[in-house]
Amino acid sequence: MLTVNQRNYRAPRQPTVVVCVDGCEPDYLALAVAGGHMPWLKRVLVEGTGLIADCVVPSFTNPNNLSIVTGAPPSVHGICGNFIYDAATGTEVMMNDPKWLRAPSLLAALADAGHSVAVVTAKDKLRRLLGHGMRGICFSSEKADQATQAEHGITGVVDLVRMPVPDVYSAELSEFVFAAGVQLMRTRKPDVMYLSTTDYVQHKHAPGTPGANAFCAMMDRYLGELDAQGCVVVLTADHGMNSKVGLDGRPDVIYLQDWFDRAIGPGKARVILPITDPYVVHHGALGSYATVYLPPELAAGPITSQLLALRGMEVVLDREAAARRFELPPDRIGDLVCVSERFTVLGTSRERHDLSGLDAPLRSHGGISEQRVPLIVNRTLPGLDPNRRLRNFDAFDLALNHAQ
Ligand code: ZN
Ligand code: ZN
Repeated sequence: MLTVNQRNYRAPRQPTVVVCVDGCEPDYLALAVAGGHMPWLKRVLVEGTGLIADCVVPSFTNPNNLSIVTGAPPSVHGICGNFIYDAATGTEVMMNDPKWLRAPSLLAALADAGHSVAVVTAKDKLRRLLGHGMRGICFSSEKADQATQAEHGITGVVDLVRMPVPDVYSAELSEFVFAAGVQLMRTRKPDVMYLSTTDYVQHKHAPGTPGANAFCAMMDRYLGELDAQGCVVVLTADHGMNSKVGLDGRPDVIYLQDWFDRAIGPGKARVILPITDPYVVHHGALGSYATVYLPPELAAGPITSQLLALRGMEVVLDREAAARRFELPPDRIGDLVCVSERFTVLGTSRERHDLSGLDAPLRSHGGISEQRVPLIVNRTLPGLDPNRRLRNFDAFDLALNHAQ
């Protein structure tokens, strides 16, 4: 028995794989299964367990991946975006550095307890956070050719996987993760493995389309291979994904910095979009979640009702209310948290968003509308309370405490 972040886990008795499929809106799977593209999953939904869970809001990649590996919300682990305003230094910074982490991961604890652990991520930005404090194998497909024994616990990844290192904007970046997972399980047999893909395909292709179905079929083949090797397989997602356009097919955007500049004066408020990262081509840094730092003389109250009146705005909460409702670290979310609706995204200033890289109608995430994610296990789960609100960060609880 292992206790991590006040939750108990049993030791794995079968090889255990948790897969986080980036941006996997449940519809991707439902339509691919219905269309005959996922024979393995179709069988698992009959013989195993197919559930829907809630992810963490903001429905972004880093907060949710960290929640899954710590079994806890951002109020515990501290990672509440890809990008934040560091009030201490007055700068806007990436949250990729492990110095932002406030809790240990279950992966590190399992390794400390003597279990072999392997982690493969698509993008390198997640690797250091996920692998922090963990002894074992941890590398990204993005930099698979640079993996060293000292830093990543493995060398010769490209030869092992027998795939060239993919382009960072490609479906193959995620396929490499699955292919590596299958080869690692075959050759190294880790006790526990965590695989995390990227949502390049999901940002471009809607559920049920040929591009989406091809991705699902690819995933199904690799998951079937892991299953055939006797693994407990849990599939979940960091967040869903929705179309974010108006009737004209163009992004439906509330430019919040422009709005504040008009409402209270230029540059008085600071709008932060925690979806921002160095890879914004496929979403133009537009998501359904923003935080706002207000000037000290301004109370959140009256502004809140004005913002809520904007078409497409779903929720506006002050710091304390947002921290409570979404289980966020209050010291890292500014004075206001804004969440837009299903079809609408939040931007800063119109001229700060380069939408020229968008070659398909905008699909994105970040809001409450992207909170529902699949939680699928290739086993039955005796003893699971049917009335429990499941979260994607219950994945390891189901895998270790119920599935074995
Ligand atoms: Zn994601
Ligand atoms: Zn994304």
